[in-house]
Amino acid sequence: IRDLQYRYSNSDHLTINKFNLTINKGEITTILGESGSGKSTLLRLIAGLEMPSKGNIMVGDDCMCSQSKFVQPERRGIGMVFQDYALFPHMTVSENIKFGLVKWSRKDKKARLQEVLELVNLEGYEKRYPYELSGGQQQRVALARALAPKPKLLLFDEPFSNLDADLQIKIREELRKILKTTGVTSIFVTHDQEDAQALADRIVILRGGEVSQNGTPEEIFGTDCDISDRIAVKPRV
Ligand code: ATP
Ligand code: MG
Repeated sequence: IRDLQYRYSNSDHLTINKFNLTINKGEITTILGESGSGKSTLLRLIAGLEMPSKGNIMVGDDCMCSQSKFVQPERRGIGMVFQDYALFPHMTVSENIKFGLVKWSRKDKKARLQEVLELVNLEGYEKRYPYELSGGQQQRVALARALAPKPKLLLFDEPFSNLDADLQIKIREELRKILKTTGVTSIFVTHDQEDAQALADRIVILRGGEVSQNGTPEEIFGTDCDISDRIAVKPRV
């Protein structure tokens, strides 16, 4: 992301300003910032749900947006998990997960469904509707749905804020394991310092739409910070 800038049309100030960030393939970056610091806006810009006033976004060698180019969200190969999971209430778990696989053959869809269900530990839940699941299970369905099309980049917008504290700790451990197993590059935004520390390979602190710090959890919070629940997992491929 280079010199990204964004102003809401009804606003007199820049919500994202002079934003520069390089993310390494396969890493989990957490963006930590207070309410109103611009975290959701930044993710929406990366996903292509907003058009920046200025700046470039590249994913690998592909330009997603610049002054002369704008790739539509569905063509970016970027998955997103929202705070409220945004599952389709009238669709079963399997229908929710297969939603993003329209162009896949029946056989491939079925195989991928089983693969991601196994990954998030929800085998046997295919026929349930979202209202028949706990918050943590819904969260895992949302993750499975985002992972199913094999995105190049996965974005998380405070996905744990509706979960109780114990479940939050359990799920973030699971999430780091799953992300590291699949090797998917991800950006996770949160205002929760513990989430940021536990999950991240790299932490970026966002203040007023600008990068205020950028470093490893140890660099940001010191070597004595408690990162005991960081789980080292070897990538599968
Ligand atoms: P939170 O932690 O509360 O979710 P955030 O860091 O995600 O906050 P954003 O939602 O990105 O913050 O909002 C950043 C700033 O942009 C805020 O000052 C907000 O009021 C403003 N903003 C957000 N959406 C709009 C909009 N549609 N029109 C105008 N201003 C907006
Ligand atoms: Mg937000």
